Amino acid sequence: MLYTEITGLKKRKALCNSIIIWFKSQHLKRYKLNIFVEHKNLLKTDGIYASCMVCGSLSRPREFLIEIEKTLDDENYIRTLNHELVHLQQWCRGNLTIKKSKLHWNNENIEDYVYDEAPHEQEAAIMQDILYKDFIEYNCLLTE
Ligand SMILES: [Zn+2]
Repeated sequence: MLYTEITGLKKRKALCNSIIIWFKSQHLKRYKLNIFVEHKNLLKTDGIYASCMVCGSLSRPREFLIEIEKTLDDENYIRTLNHELVHLQQWCRGNLTIKKSKLHWNNENIEDYVYDEAPHEQEAAIMQDILYKDFIEYNCLLTE
């Protein structure tokens, strides 16, 4: 089960939706998820390309808001959205949790890590390139 709500331009919305449906079918099959995506000028307002936040229950996260920069080209967009979906998966699996208002990775407090050394960011950074290739390959197979 998957429910998505996506704001933005028509073409981007279509790409966004196909990435989410593909990712879910490959990596989050058994979860019932609500995913909201907002395409924004995030770089200008927040100085970041994207973020993934849990809405609602933190003990069993199934509802998420992904915000993503709207000016990315297709290639960087696919990588960035997949990066955020890896974080979404980390929340679903319970690798990422909040305990006493601090972010934890497999029960370790990771608040003090610098951004790129944090374990959840390292996994997402490695996975985004693998997922990019997988997604392109999957789409080529579909259009052949
Ligand atoms: Zn990240």
